[in-house]
Amino acid sequence: MSIQDLKQKFIEKYGEDGVEAQVFYAPGRVNLIGEHLDYNGGYVLPAALEFGTTLVVRPRSDDEIHFASTNLPYVATLMVSEIGKLKSNEWIDYPVGVMVELQKKGTPVTRGYDLLFHGDIPNGSGLSSSASLEVLTAYALLTLEGAETDTVEIALLSQRAENQYVGVNSGIMDQFAVANGKRDHAILLMCDTLEYELVPFVTGAYKLVIGNTNKKRGLVDSKYNERRQQCDEALAILQKEVPSLSYLAELKPEQFEAHQGKIEDETVRRRAQHVVEENQRVLDSVEVLKNNDLKQFGQYMNDSHTSLRDLYEVSCEELDVMVEEAQKIPGTLGSRMTGAGFGGCTVSLVHEDDVERFIKEVGEAYKTRTGLDGEFYVCGIGNGVEQLKGAN
Ligand code: ADP
Ligand code: MG
Repeated sequence: MSIQDLKQKFIEKYGEDGVEAQVFYAPGRVNLIGEHLDYNGGYVLPAALEFGTTLVVRPRSDDEIHFASTNLPYVATLMVSEIGKLKSNEWIDYPVGVMVELQKKGTPVTRGYDLLFHGDIPNGSGLSSSASLEVLTAYALLTLEGAETDTVEIALLSQRAENQYVGVNSGIMDQFAVANGKRDHAILLMCDTLEYELVPFVTGAYKLVIGNTNKKRGLVDSKYNERRQQCDEALAILQKEVPSLSYLAELKPEQFEAHQGKIEDETVRRRAQHVVEENQRVLDSVEVLKNNDLKQFGQYMNDSHTSLRDLYEVSCEELDVMVEEAQKIPGTLGSRMTGAGFGGCTVSLVHEDDVERFIKEVGEAYKTRTGLDGEFYVCGIGNGVEQLKGAN
C-alpha cells in the first residue's frame, strides 16, 4: 500500500481534524550469518530489510489512544491513565508494552493519539514483525512527545516490552537491527555488550531472496533449551583447559582444535564446534564484505547452513530442501536457513537476472519435494527506523 493510500485510510477511519498526521517506518530484519551465537557470546550479522511496518499517527486534544492496524481487525481505545493496566492478549500488547516502558523510563505518553499501523512483514515467520512494531511505536511516540530518540535505547526498551509485557523471551538482535539498520550495511553486533559496527554490504546486482518454508514450527523451545545446555556443558569442560574462557564463542578455531578431545560426548563436541566455527565465519564475512567479495560471503552462507544442519542439528527437511534447491540456481552465491531453525525462513544471495527463475524453480521443486507452498520475498538492505518526512 502506498503512503498516500495509507493516509487516506487513516482519514477514513479517524476523520480530518486540522492537525497533520505524521508517518513513521520501521523495517523487518534478517540475520545474514551467525546463528545460535547470541547466547554463546558470539557475533551476529543482521540487516534491516526493505520492507517493514508503517505508522500514520496524529496527536489528539484529549487523552484517548486509538489503535488500529490494516493487518488485523482488532481495534481498541485506551485512556492514557489505563496504559498497562490490562493486557489484551491482542496485537496492541506490543505497542502498549512499549508505552509502559516509556513511562518507566520517564518519557511517558502524555496525551491521546490516533494510530494506524500497516505491515508488509509476514507475521510469525521470523522476520521480526513484532520488533518492527515495537521499535516503530517507541520512535514515533518519543519524536511526537519531543523526547530524545536514541536508537540503542529504543532497541533496549522495545526488547523489555516484548520480554516483560508481551511475555516473549527474545534476545536483543531483532530490535537492535530494526532500530539501527542502514541501507547497504549489515550490522556486526555482540549481543551481550551491544558493541556494534556497521559493515558496508553493497548488494549491487544481487538481491536477498528470503524463502518462507511455511513449515509450522514445533519443538523449538525444548530443542533450544537442549542446545543451550549442551553449550554450557562444553563450556564447563573447556574452561578447565582455558581458564580465562567466559563464553564458547571466545575460543578461536585453533584453540578448539587443541582441546576438543576433552569433550567426550560427540554430540556436545559437535555443538561446540558449530559455535566456534560459526563465530569465525561471521568475522571472516565482515572482512570479505569490506572487500565487496560477495562470492566468498556466499560460500560462508553455504558453510553456515551445512554446520547448522550437521553439527548443530537445528535445521529440518523443509529448510534443507529449500536451501539445496536454491544452491542449484546458477545465480545463487549462497543460501542458508536463518533464525532459530526447525522451520521459518531461508536467506539466499541471488543475481537479479536469476531471481525470477529462482522463485519459479525453487518454488516448484520445494512443492514437489515437501508438499508445501513456499513464499519468496525479494529485497535489498534498507534503513532502520525513521520518520518519512517527505510523506507528510
Ligand atoms: P515475528 O516477529 O517473527 O513476525 P511474532 O509472533 O513475534 O512473529 O510477532 C507477530 C505478532 O506481532 C503478530 O501476531 C501481531 O500480534 C503483531 N504484529 C506484527 N505486525 C503487526 C501489524 N502490522 N499490525 C498489527 N499487529 C502486528
Ligand atoms: Mg517476533
